[in-house]
Amino acid sequence: METKIAYIEMQHSYKRYQMGSTTITANDDVSFGIEKGELAIILGASGAGKSTVLNILGGMDTNSEGSVVIDGRDISNYSPKQLTAYRRTDTGFVFQFYNLVANLTAKENVELASQIVSDAQDAVKVLEDVGLGDRVDNFPAQLSGGEQQMLALGRAMMGQPELLLLDEPSLGLAPLIINDIFREIKRINELGTTILLVEQNAKVALKHSHRAYVLETGKV
Ligand code: ADP
Ligand code: MG
Repeated sequence: METKIAYIEMQHSYKRYQMGSTTITANDDVSFGIEKGELAIILGASGAGKSTVLNILGGMDTNSEGSVVIDGRDISNYSPKQLTAYRRTDTGFVFQFYNLVANLTAKENVELASQIVSDAQDAVKVLEDVGLGDRVDNFPAQLSGGEQQMLALGRAMMGQPELLLLDEPSLGLAPLIINDIFREIKRINELGTTILLVEQNAKVALKHSHRAYVLETGKV
């Protein structure tokens, strides 16, 4: 019998952190799938294990047990070298706290990414796409939270990844700004990038996604 595997398929995934004699189970038998081209959301309270799922899918962390199939390949069996290539070319990541370099301008922040990806887009064009065309020479501290989020989004798209992962993009932002961010996320999605984001904000998640999963203390 043929079983259909989704574009992203996490199956019976566990992540355990050993802290001295205690084991923290951040992901406890997580299974879910996402189709190519979708905009999917995993919803969960703080500490539910969302960032852990995202970091594993982004190749920044590895699970303790279970499979993580992306486009037919199980990245949980990847060597560190394969994971590096995967992180550089296949995925874009937007971190919870943007992780911009404070002493580099907006343009220089996105240009940093072009040094590690194979077919980088033009930095100014990327900044224009995310509405920062007139802010290219500003430093992150001269940008609002929403603009910094847009800059982080632009940087993640420099290598034109097939999969974009975002960690709580609405966190701390005003509703109008959240709408702007999601308009941009949807534009990127409509151009063909599969997107998974994690959120605490149920209203945002349900308003903007094709598919939503709920993560409760380590379980989907
Ligand atoms: P969320 O993103 O949903 O807030 P996380 O995935 O960051 O949740 O964390 C899930 C659980 O795993 C939390 O209890 C957190 O303290 C724990 N955890 C996450 N990363 C580590 C780590 N590197 N070492 C130990 N515990 C961790
Ligand atoms: Mg988190």
